[in-house]
Amino acid sequence: MPRQLLFLPGPVTVAEPVLAALSRPLIDHRGAEFAAMIERITAGLRPIYGTSGEIVLLGSSGTGAMETALVNLFSPGDRLLSCAVGAFGKRFAAIATSYGCVVESLETPLGAALDPRALQTRLEADERRNITGVLLTQNETSTGVANDIAALSPILRAHGAVTLVDSVSGLGASEFLMDRWGFDAVAAASQKALAAPPGTAMLALSERARTRLAGARIGRFYFDLARAIESAHLGQMPWTPPISILYALDLALARYNERGMNAAFERHARYAAAVRAGLQSLGFTLFSQPGAHSNTVVAAYPPSGVAPAALLKILREDYGVVLSGGQAELAGKIVRFGTMGEIGEADLIAAMGAIELALTKLDVDVAAGRATGATIESLSGRVTSGVA
Ligand code: PLP
Repeated sequence: MPRQLLFLPGPVTVAEPVLAALSRPLIDHRGAEFAAMIERITAGLRPIYGTSGEIVLLGSSGTGAMETALVNLFSPGDRLLSCAVGAFGKRFAAIATSYGCVVESLETPLGAALDPRALQTRLEADERRNITGVLLTQNETSTGVANDIAALSPILRAHGAVTLVDSVSGLGASEFLMDRWGFDAVAAASQKALAAPPGTAMLALSERARTRLAGARIGRFYFDLARAIESAHLGQMPWTPPISILYALDLALARYNERGMNAAFERHARYAAAVRAGLQSLGFTLFSQPGAHSNTVVAAYPPSGVAPAALLKILREDYGVVLSGGQAELAGKIVRFGTMGEIGEADLIAAMGAIELALTKLDVDVAAGRATGATIESLSGRVTSGVA
């Protein structure tokens, strides 16, 4: 297969040494070496989550961590407020509904971030504290929208509901202060900003979340957190773990922390701004509203007359540049450009050049160097005129 440059919203391009770690010989998952690795991974995740609480690793994708949080913290009939701002928020709500929770939705127009005032109004109206839990998405991958969860935190604390956060496409790309913000369960996964292969999810828990485990009456077995915590304290996972993926995650985290969190936050923000500048210079229209842009996924409508599928096909087949299309009601309408993983500035410029070429093949009149120029200007900190 020809080389591909992945700009998906996950899985992402993984560094060669991290890929090479996958081929290391397997070890005893009940032995001391494995325990040391689990300890290293957990210690490496702790500052990224901003928590001194429990972190468990799960042999699943991110959805498994979301399901784990729900089934271990709630009971059938519990009333939950879903603050979905796109497809992944709706998935969170759908998991809760499938286990018998009563889910109310706080509606937000697609492309917008959750309005803190709307959340405040709804929670203040819940004087009898009927709402047991609130479901949030830090970064909504389907729309390229980031919620300002720091601003939501005092509102949630004032109400007191248990707060579950999907940070699958957020953790590692922007600041997360779980303990300070007071969230109870935060789900993430290996294949996004942490730049490891897919196959491991992680869930951080507050002390309050731990105390709820015994009382939650939704059935569970594989995703039983009491077992996962008990095993974690032995440096193990309850079931046969994805050892090879953990090797890769271990190394990816070491590389991440060596470069530093702040460098990662800055890089994702700078790359996303550059992608927005490049796409807008070609007549793409951002899907996310100003002030709500994600650092990890740029979602945009192509210029008028350009079908996303045709553009994505040329990019992939002719140039090995792999972007993603829209999901659910946005399928066939938008393209999504991910900024996570082992990519550099030159890769972004190459991708923009490929988009210029692909548009030309689709008979769009593109001045050569327009998007690459806008991207370079943005990356180098020069202001690009006319770009929000
Ligand atoms: N939540 C968000 C915000 C995501 O972006 C994704 C995956 O793209 C998921 C949840 C689901 O994660 P997974 O595909 O790892 O199950």
